[in-house]
Amino acid sequence: MTIAYIYHPDCLLHDMGEAHPEQPARIHAIEDQLVASGLFDFLQQHQAPLATRRQLSRVHDLTYVDKVLSFGQQQQSEFLDPDTLLTPQTPQAALRSAGAVVYATELLLSHKKRIAFCCVRPPGHHAVRDQAMGFCFFNNVAVGAAHAIHEYGLNRVAIVDFDVHHGNGTEDIFSNDPRVLLCSTFQHPFYPYCGAETQKKHIVNVPLPAGTNSDQFRQAILQYWLPALHKFAPQLIFISAGFDAHYDDDMSNFHLHSTDYAWVTHEMMIIADKYADGRIISVLEGGYELHSLGRSVAAHMKVLMHLA
Ligand SMILES: [Zn+2]
Repeated sequence: MTIAYIYHPDCLLHDMGEAHPEQPARIHAIEDQLVASGLFDFLQQHQAPLATRRQLSRVHDLTYVDKVLSFGQQQQSEFLDPDTLLTPQTPQAALRSAGAVVYATELLLSHKKRIAFCCVRPPGHHAVRDQAMGFCFFNNVAVGAAHAIHEYGLNRVAIVDFDVHHGNGTEDIFSNDPRVLLCSTFQHPFYPYCGAETQKKHIVNVPLPAGTNSDQFRQAILQYWLPALHKFAPQLIFISAGFDAHYDDDMSNFHLHSTDYAWVTHEMMIIADKYADGRIISVLEGGYELHSLGRSVAAHMKVLMHLA
């Protein structure tokens, strides 16, 4: 099955320095692997549009949005936290990233496509309502979910997040909105040092210890995510697809393999087929070891394309 692949070269403009793990080379590593594995030619390519201020305002304070956007006219960069550098090129890349997810939402909800992958950066799931955090500026997945709710009237949207870090920004944005079910597995205690204490029916946080392996990860999905997803019966599923829990990625102490990403993707497709007319929008979050990132995304996409 051909799936939509949404990207824009502007996503390469944002550069926080050679030594920074969240670097443009991540996109090249993914595309190289998709070409090498023969998948690239079967993707339906789309260019990501720019998100609008109105689309961003559904999940971010406008004062914060305007601060980020104003850097497009400046010459200087500014650290918004110790790891997150706002440069004059950042707004253009961040608007394409969020715009990709809005575009994917429109493609799927106008019945033109069932599955989309947004190969974008900067990532989004740490960005809270009024602040950048952990390499993230705009919460791309949240912007897309809010678009599905506001423009298409959906009232059951699931966001599943298997990045090794907790998607605190997504939780912050939807903490009082039960139209969104958030399911998240993450290493704990670990950056951003929250999420384990949350007690809300529509937020299914599964903190897991350092050293978590394939079996423990899969068990957590089976035990916590799947019952919540069946009960919620989502009309659309977003995946915050971070691949930094991979064994080779020294950003974390999880021991996952690309086969685990294929497995969890397959489980999400079963849910999507049952409740959401097969609709899945996967959005790149973390993943910093370039080889395992490329291989893991390819394994993920192969399942999305019904080739595995
Ligand atoms: Zn991460």
